[in-house]
Amino acid sequence: MPLDYASPQPLPPGTLVRVPLGRRDVPGIVWQRPPQAEAPPDLRPVREVVSALPPLGAHWRQLVAFAAAYYQRGLGELALAVLPPELRKLDDVQLARRVSRLRKATAPVVGPAAPRVVERAAADIGAARADEVPPADLPPSRPPLNDEQQMAVQAIGAAAGTYLLHGVTGSGKTEVYLHAAEAALAAGRQVLVMVPEINLTPQLEARFAERFAGRRLVSLHSALTPAQRLKHWLLAHLGEADLVLGTRLAVFASLPRLGLIVADEEHDPSFKQQEGARYSARDLAVYRGHLEGVPVVLGSATPSLETWQRVQEGRYTRLALSQRIGGGVLPRVRLFDMNTLPRQRGAAAPALAPMIVDAVAERIERGEQSLLFLNRRGYAPVLHCTACGWKSGCPHCSAWRVFHKGDRSLRCHHCGFSERVPRACPDCGNLDIAPLGRGTERLEEQIAELLPGARVARIDADTTRLKGSLEAQLGAVHAGDVDVLVGTQMIAKGHDFRRITLVAAVNPDSALFASDFRAPERLFSLLMQAAGRAGRDAEHAARSEMWVQSWHPQHGLYAALRKHDYEAFAATQLEERQAAGLPPFSSLALLRAEAREASIAQAFLREAAAQAQAAADEAGVTIYPPVPPPVARVADVDRMQMLVESPSRVALQRLLADWLPQLHGLRTVHKGVLRWAVDVDPLAI
Ligand code: ADP
Ligand code: ZN
Ligand code: ZN
Repeated sequence: MPLDYASPQPLPPGTLVRVPLGRRDVPGIVWQRPPQAEAPPDLRPVREVVSALPPLGAHWRQLVAFAAAYYQRGLGELALAVLPPELRKLDDVQLARRVSRLRKATAPVVGPAAPRVVERAAADIGAARADEVPPADLPPSRPPLNDEQQMAVQAIGAAAGTYLLHGVTGSGKTEVYLHAAEAALAAGRQVLVMVPEINLTPQLEARFAERFAGRRLVSLHSALTPAQRLKHWLLAHLGEADLVLGTRLAVFASLPRLGLIVADEEHDPSFKQQEGARYSARDLAVYRGHLEGVPVVLGSATPSLETWQRVQEGRYTRLALSQRIGGGVLPRVRLFDMNTLPRQRGAAAPALAPMIVDAVAERIERGEQSLLFLNRRGYAPVLHCTACGWKSGCPHCSAWRVFHKGDRSLRCHHCGFSERVPRACPDCGNLDIAPLGRGTERLEEQIAELLPGARVARIDADTTRLKGSLEAQLGAVHAGDVDVLVGTQMIAKGHDFRRITLVAAVNPDSALFASDFRAPERLFSLLMQAAGRAGRDAEHAARSEMWVQSWHPQHGLYAALRKHDYEAFAATQLEERQAAGLPPFSSLALLRAEAREASIAQAFLREAAAQAQAAADEAGVTIYPPVPPPVARVADVDRMQMLVESPSRVALQRLLADWLPQLHGLRTVHKGVLRWAVDVDPLAI
């Protein structure tokens, strides 16, 4: 709820201020004018007005208000959370100084052409530097668009609306973004481009920087220093930056001249914020486009089923790019049936089937590269004792600790608890403790054994912890210093590897039977994306292949994958979702509670449910009983969750808005509850 303060002069809505709250001064935003001209006499005055900055615009405020209401957060809390933290620390004088410095830096150059520096993040290694205004207005290397690309660019330019740009890797989506952006920029507008993870897409940023070398491009993401983030935000807010390239938080950038929004890889779960206000930046982008009357382009080879359903309903327009540029075909997808491997009793299955090992060896001989994809890092997911059955559980979580051979540690991926690997079984003293299962670290080792002499590299969260290491490793792959690249989903996404002609998914089955109803959708898109890594060069495309090692090769998901048939896959999934009443045919919210003991969290959720039951019945909203999530205990805290579901988004929204404010009071009764939160449109359940 906004609070009232007095000000001697009228303040336009969107003005940043500092106001007294209790004994402190806190930052605030003028939200609306007072209903009557005469202020009550006892109002406390605004302490300071930030006059150095133009007020935040009406559209920005509407976006924030919508997001706060939809995701059930406090308006002030969300509004301040999405502004750069540094903004709150500076007073009017300091901000005025920054603004004038930024404006001066971008003032038109008079006299001999001085270089105009384009501010870019230090982390943006691998991106071409765009330091100077090119002499003429002719950007480098602009290929003529093919017919489908041309139609797409025209459609986007012709009318505001939400567009799905549907095409596989290498079909020319980025080129469409670039052309649409060019048109928006030429019309004097700003362009917002959102990507799931900025580190995984240096090439996209490089292409924008190169194409728009004379324009000012800034990035907005969480890896920026606070000072950089403020600077970039200010440049956007002042209208000085023409292009903003960022992650999900960029959806809240203040852009007074916004003309186009692009969300690349719109299906990627990273667009959903997982803490605080759990917003979907993709969904907010669509809302923002609608609000501001500008086109929104959602790009993907495997659109989220939410987006796909909206295309079916005619609410979004699908723009298809059906061919790879240069006629490169998609790699042939081959399934390897793991059940056909001859096995000795008790022996673990080999990392790679012999025929896939041969296929990799062939690549090495030809000087081509292979990519082995295994979505599990570490050496082995668990250690066990062969004598007494001890397993490397985490004492603080309901999860196994992962064996990392590199630093000989047992590490919990949920709470971070780490210990040196014991020499003997902690329970019985047996010296024979063995790894169970396989992570990327072990796969790397096994591949090196299977293919002596091969140059094997691994890329996952463990090998890329140090700043710059991801870039260095990618550089080695691009330079051809690597024959076989082993890695997690990090390598399946984004990168434009030219020499890869073989991709193998080592053990993808687990997602087929996961409890989360979105697991198959994720797996399909990940495998399609991984497949897209192979054969991007037309000359190699013909002999490119993707192998999938599976114990369930008959599964429908793999059948669709073999044909690269997203539409068939989506149709079956949507049928199942409809039959089960799951999104996109219903709306969900997840109420989570945490306590030292599950029973406390459960009691809280049960009583919360009881409070809303009558209203829920009336509104057609179902409240399911509280259950533990897949990993129920993390860092000595028990978690419970309760699903709230309705076929009507509006009904669910109304119920939540009436109900959740009461829970603050309820919590004071349930003192053992450490935290509770609501996740609207949860991605993982
Ligand atoms: P995507 O974003 O779908 O992966 P890109 O836009 O990156 O596809 O296009 C793949 C490659 O083809 C890039 O190297 C790009 O420069 C090139 N390209 C895109 N469109 C054309 C075109 N119309 N003519 C020639 N080359 C193109
Ligand atoms: Zn033991
Ligand atoms: Zn743990």
